Amino acid sequence: MTRMISRRGFIAWSALLGSGVLSGVKADRVFSAKGAVGRNNVISTWRHGLAANEAAAEILRNGKSALDAVEAGVRVSEGDPDVTSVGYGGLPDEQGRVTLDASIMNSKGNAGAVGCIENIKHPISVARKVMEETDHVMIVGAGATEFAKLHGFKEEDLLTEKARKAHLEWKAKLSDKDDWLPPPKEDDHDTIGMIAQDDRGDIAGACTTSGLRFKIHGRVGDSPIVGAGMYVDNEVGGAAATGRGEAVIKIAGSHLVVENMRRGASPMEAIEEALKRIIKAHNGNPEFQVAFIAISKQGEFGALALRKGFQYALFRNGANKLYDGEYLLS
Ligand code: ASP
Repeated sequence: MTRMISRRGFIAWSALLGSGVLSGVKADRVFSAKGAVGRNNVISTWRHGLAANEAAAEILRNGKSALDAVEAGVRVSEGDPDVTSVGYGGLPDEQGRVTLDASIMNSKGNAGAVGCIENIKHPISVARKVMEETDHVMIVGAGATEFAKLHGFKEEDLLTEKARKAHLEWKAKLSDKDDWLPPPKEDDHDTIGMIAQDDRGDIAGACTTSGLRFKIHGRVGDSPIVGAGMYVDNEVGGAAATGRGEAVIKIAGSHLVVENMRRGASPMEAIEEALKRIIKAHNGNPEFQVAFIAISKQGEFGALALRKGFQYALFRNGANKLYDGEYLLS
């Protein structure tokens, strides 16, 4: 059942579901930071976003760019073995291989990405190298690992004991019903997406993940796909996604959120409109989680999920806090 989200002055979003247009949407300002262009704002997905935000905020406090901030921020999750869906410690694919996806985008509209990279702990930094050292946008598979090594990244085993055991357990329980579509559980969706705005008002984004646990080898999700897992337009804002990547790719989710903001929607409204497309595409009841975070050029932010359980970390006005995400379906 579609749920009405509890925000003051909220739009009749069910009408939007049918119409597919944003016209007539009443501006929601509950989550807005009205006034000057936002300064030193960071938003990221899930609980581990808190530590990531801290690292990003430290970079911003030192007057560095939003790009430096998002890279430093998400590297914290990539390096944390307890975060089982990002970088080192990420749960492996069906073959027991840890394959990672990442993308990064700066305020000039440049982007870099890697897909299905193995044995490199910080794919986000490899993605940045792709953006800055080549005229390509995306490098995948063995080529991505080779590229990383050529640029001085160390090859290392990313499969922790915990992840190895989880994979063995999954294999032991494998049945003909297993379709790589686990039910929405909090620990299934730990991609870190992060959008930051620096003290010049410039916006950058990063997204990094080990993707769906026990996925088919070679599967690439939304996170490294510019416009799906993450997108930034410095004139408008930035957005990032987490959750069922296939559903996000099919609507070019983060790009859609940014384009909705360009047409005048607040970040919350922009996300909602994107999520409603996913709901519609899945007959009103998608059996998975998807959530987006977004920041507008004006420093407004939004975070919204299909389902209960999503959390996001927000750094603004010098304070870093974890929030339970609003959601649309119950
Ligand atoms: N979006 C990621 C993917 O589909 C997974 C997640 O956020 O949980 O690869």
